[in-house]
Amino acid sequence: TFLQFTKETDPTYVNMESVIGEGEFGEVYRGSLRLPGKEKVVVAIKTLKSTYSESQWWNFLREATIMEQFSHPNIVQLQGVVTKQKPMMILTEFMENGALDAFLRENDEKFSCVQLVKMLQGIAAGMRYLSERNYVHRDLAARNILVTRNFLCKVSDFGLSRVLENDLEGTYETRGGKIPIRWTAPEAIANRTFTSASDVWSFGIVMWEVLSYGEKPYGDLTNLEVMKSIEDGYRLPPTVDCPPVLYDLMKNCWAGDRQRRPLFRQIQAELDHLLANPHFLRGV
Ligand code: ATP
Repeated sequence: TFLQFTKETDPTYVNMESVIGEGEFGEVYRGSLRLPGKEKVVVAIKTLKSTYSESQWWNFLREATIMEQFSHPNIVQLQGVVTKQKPMMILTEFMENGALDAFLRENDEKFSCVQLVKMLQGIAAGMRYLSERNYVHRDLAARNILVTRNFLCKVSDFGLSRVLENDLEGTYETRGGKIPIRWTAPEAIANRTFTSASDVWSFGIVMWEVLSYGEKPYGDLTNLEVMKSIEDGYRLPPTVDCPPVLYDLMKNCWAGDRQRRPLFRQIQAELDHLLANPHFLRGV
């Protein structure tokens, strides 16, 4: 292809071990990467299936291009790409505990509030890094956060923004759960103004997901009902035993006027403050 990747990798150094998931573009594998003179690292391998469409091909390369530019402890790290041979691959650091939504559902009520806030602080730090580089994620949700063995949370999934843009042009429900209406700020749904402030709205939803151990935001409401109630000023209720300071922070993220939402820098500072003074996290 015309794209040059610093991390272009010879696939003979890649060993695919087992399928761990199904992604937008094809299967996701666990495997290892052994670059000459380097230590073997465990990686996740996203492959582009051989029946790819032009837009899938484009989005696949786009995700790799975006990821290559980032380096932060709370952003999933690109380890290599294979674009000069088929199947094409994106290799990233392997995250033992998988996606955050499933991880929390499997560990219902097993964490302290401080541990949950540490997860959120990591996500906020990663999002601050992205927002300060003028990168708008557009699909921030617990399912797109990955978790390490030590419960460190990292932002992933940089491939979908363009796809989502197209989806939002048409009807909101055509592709079932694929369109993140529940996570998306009203102005981004209404006129596609995706900004770091709309990512902050999504962060508020992620806070609610984390504190509820992976419940579905707005439960059984349909996407249309969600949009209507948001417009009418309705917001998600506090989660069980939610410390009021955390619910206040969520509600600030959901300000109808995006100028009034906090910046990721401020969210991170608030979470740091709460972790330094955990007595604020007690009491309902
Ligand atoms: P979708 O659009 O459905 O989210 P996708 O193409 O973005 O799909 P991912 O969600 O990134 O694909 O990957 C699918 C699944 O593979 C994830 O839910 C997760 O369980 C697993 N996975 C992806 N990347 C990693 C990783 N770096 N470490 C461990 N597991 C991973």
